[in-house]
Amino acid sequence: MKTRAAILAGVGEKWIVDEVELGTPGANDVIVEIKAAGLCHSEEHMASGDMVFTQDILDAMGMPEQFPLIGGHEGSGVVVEVGADVRKVKVGDHVSTSFIPSCGICRACVGGRQYLCDQGFDLMTTQAEPKHFWQGKPANTYSNLGTFAEHALVHENSLVKIEDHFPFDIAALVSCGVPTGWGSAVDRAGTQPGDVVAVIGIGGIGINAVQGAKSVGAQVIMAIDPVEFKRQKAMEFGATHTAATVEEAMPLIQELSRGRLCDRVIVTPSVLYGDILAAAMSITGKGSTCVATAVAPYAQAEVPLSLVDLTLWNKELKGSLYGSTNPRAQIPKLLSLYESGQLKLDELITHRYPLDDINSGYDDLREGLILRGVITF
Ligand SMILES: [Zn+2]
Ligand SMILES: [Zn+2]
Repeated sequence: MKTRAAILAGVGEKWIVDEVELGTPGANDVIVEIKAAGLCHSEEHMASGDMVFTQDILDAMGMPEQFPLIGGHEGSGVVVEVGADVRKVKVGDHVSTSFIPSCGICRACVGGRQYLCDQGFDLMTTQAEPKHFWQGKPANTYSNLGTFAEHALVHENSLVKIEDHFPFDIAALVSCGVPTGWGSAVDRAGTQPGDVVAVIGIGGIGINAVQGAKSVGAQVIMAIDPVEFKRQKAMEFGATHTAATVEEAMPLIQELSRGRLCDRVIVTPSVLYGDILAAAMSITGKGSTCVATAVAPYAQAEVPLSLVDLTLWNKELKGSLYGSTNPRAQIPKLLSLYESGQLKLDELITHRYPLDDINSGYDDLREGLILRGVITF
């Protein structure tokens, strides 16, 4: 079938909204009529080149060409067609997308770590039969989803069924940014009641790390971001203090923690660099935990980290993918918390854009004007 989608043709390009062709769904494939798609920073990493691999890396990993790319991995919609063997959803179901699939049977999934599902790796690295075409040539899809489109052709393992009464724009938010931020603070960092927490970088991920820390009863939540609008928003979402930089936050953290520094530090900048991580570890206290949840340029390999500090202060440094949460458990849970008024989701959406205005949305994102922009169809 033919549909309209936003395509990125290469690094530094603008999004092009054009007709694309979806192939025939395979036995486990589903066609979703997309109703809402979140503008996540991850696609911006493709436009900026941070996440673009050299041909050597693509060849070594067996990865397909990254461009042209049908963007979008935060999304929600209605199932309109299913392949012969699809069992997880049926026509008419409302669904939220998951940017990492969960097969339910691999070692990671059955061990309770769906965010590390083997299929997530396979889908990224396997040269599958192309199912999306633009201008007659195969096109890649972001996270094997491609939600910046009126219709998406996806594997059933990448969909989570949700209850029908949730608004689609809300259901799109809980597919990536919200669980990633919330999980980084709650599941990965293990924030406890009474903790002193710092969140570095208040975008779509960081703001939800603030919400997660608040939900479990952190005593101090220091939101650190150079953009004043984001610091203001952080206070509305549960932060207790703000600072523009880690250096500015340091004396306040020392005072508020009586010299212990932070129990948890969640690092969620738009792009992760080694010096940010080093600064984050400098405000991480004795025996405390620092979690990094951000995309770094592929070539970024060095961190000026005090190793004496790491060992003698018994510090813990953790990476996190998808907030280290299970999409099939977390997405419905977060929607329940929203329903009971314990999670702010409507307030996250700063602007809604039609698909044709996607470039304005990404301009706003780059300029720090939005917490989350959503494309509505
Ligand atoms: Zn995302
Ligand atoms: Zn799995």
